[in-house]
Amino acid sequence: MINKEISKIFFEMADYLKMKEETFRSVAYNKVALSLESMEQDVEDIYNKGGLKALEDLPGVGKNIAQKIEEYIKTGKIKAYLNLKKQTPIKLDEISRIEGMGPKKAKVLFEKLGIKNIKDLEKAAKSHKIAPLFGFGEKTEKNILEGIEFLKKDKGRFLLGSIMPSVEEILEKLSSLKEIKQISIAGSTRRMKETVGDVDILVAVKPAFAEASAGKIMNFFVSLPGIVKVWGKGKTKSSVRMKHGFDVDLRIVKPESFGSALQYFTGSKEHNIATRKIAISKGLKLNEYGVFKGQKMIAGRTEQDVYKAIGLSYIAPEMREDTGEVELAQKAKLPNIIGYDDIKGDLHCHSNWDGGEHSIKEMIASAQKMGYEYIGISDHTKFLKIEKGLNEKQLLDQRKEIEKLNNDFRVLQGCEANIMPDGSLDIKDSVLAKLDFVIAGVHSAMKMPRDKMTQRIINAMKNPNVDIISHPTGRLLLKRDEYQIDFDKILRAAKEYNVVLEINSSPERLDLKDTNIKKAKEAGVKMVINTDAHHKNQLELIKFGIAQARRGWAEKKDILNTDSADKLLSYFKNAS
Ligand SMILES: [Zn+2]
Ligand SMILES: [Zn+2]
Repeated sequence: MINKEISKIFFEMADYLKMKEETFRSVAYNKVALSLESMEQDVEDIYNKGGLKALEDLPGVGKNIAQKIEEYIKTGKIKAYLNLKKQTPIKLDEISRIEGMGPKKAKVLFEKLGIKNIKDLEKAAKSHKIAPLFGFGEKTEKNILEGIEFLKKDKGRFLLGSIMPSVEEILEKLSSLKEIKQISIAGSTRRMKETVGDVDILVAVKPAFAEASAGKIMNFFVSLPGIVKVWGKGKTKSSVRMKHGFDVDLRIVKPESFGSALQYFTGSKEHNIATRKIAISKGLKLNEYGVFKGQKMIAGRTEQDVYKAIGLSYIAPEMREDTGEVELAQKAKLPNIIGYDDIKGDLHCHSNWDGGEHSIKEMIASAQKMGYEYIGISDHTKFLKIEKGLNEKQLLDQRKEIEKLNNDFRVLQGCEANIMPDGSLDIKDSVLAKLDFVIAGVHSAMKMPRDKMTQRIINAMKNPNVDIISHPTGRLLLKRDEYQIDFDKILRAAKEYNVVLEINSSPERLDLKDTNIKKAKEAGVKMVINTDAHHKNQLELIKFGIAQARRGWAEKKDILNTDSADKLLSYFKNAS
């Protein structure tokens, strides 16, 4: 699918145009980029079937942008983009990876200090040339240096959510080969770790085809679209680099060893050490080829067989981090973790009332497509001016619209109120009390000292209307650390004031993270899994939140939106 490639270019064009202060065009490109990014249909198919006209029917696409899409499909490049890039020597894609650095700031830094890339930026910040600039200051300079450190630390890692679509595409293409008997992702991607380095894929060949077809599979693999470099091509292993920058390894294993190879290459390393020790304690040997008693292979075909042979119950890949799962599997006492189909409704969805992409009606249709029983609309509130946050009157107007739409499919009204630095909210209590539920989140002043930040969130929890804290620790993966908080204190307060913590599924948040989910569960604090969708297709991101919950060993009973709307509401404050 080339949607993502074009979307990435359009996002960059939007940034370049913003820098040139061509706001109108910038917004137009940004809009199309956003919808391309999550569009299910391949834009190339649309073009092949209906030509330019069909492209112009896409949301936000006019003649001009349609022609750019056509140009990319035909030539693999967009001249206007290359020209924009040429006109400004700034490496915007590089610089904008730093939290808080947008096109406007980049432009000022280039004009005043000649900063073109991260290297220049680091040098300038270290010699304190940025702080004296108008609109920057000491704090920004410090943030820039922290951002650069952050980038260095995570070099070579990718958001699971950003690479998953291309991984799934590779799997699908490979699966079409008739020689392949079994195929699976392995490694940290299979364990659904929030960021991954490279991707491992395992394949077993049908015995009837045997070795002759290995060559064919490898040839097919190294010529897949989107590959920019082939590191190596062998009979049982090949390695490639994808356009997005990550590497994929493909291994061919024997069908009788597929399960043990999958167990081995899924890891984690620590989990494998622990399972191997157990095998040894039982007089067995466990490796990537199978489980052996002396010379005799007693298991290996499936992972289930492998775990059973060494006396363990089957352990879900998301739990394989050697944090106690092996001991529990020995006693057959593993928690029954939440499944990918257990969520009944998404409570954190933004509509076009607050500048989201879609109407409430469209969001409802999307939720129905997900097989949900209900959806919660939780638009931003007034303090967030850039997000067109709603004020009290707008919330009450929205209530009327939601009541009208509330037919067979349940629509709940919430909001995502802002937790101000003192812990108060930006919407009057009398209005909050009228909503079905209230989410509160921190969206400003994130660098407060630990005790102040902790107290700020606890104060919000004390509000008699607050039911859920959104993205409770504020991290942005590969960009920004959690804010300084005492999480144990937050958990105690959540319990005391009957407040639910969110597991935000957005791939760059995944907040709460796995270890915090485990702590919350142990403390008896309830959670919900939400997407924070600003676009109707983003409802599908829920799988990443569920994966994180599984990594944190959460069970259905720990996650409130696995229940019906009525049960869910009865749990919240102001239950009516
Ligand atoms: Zn938020
Ligand atoms: Zn939100």
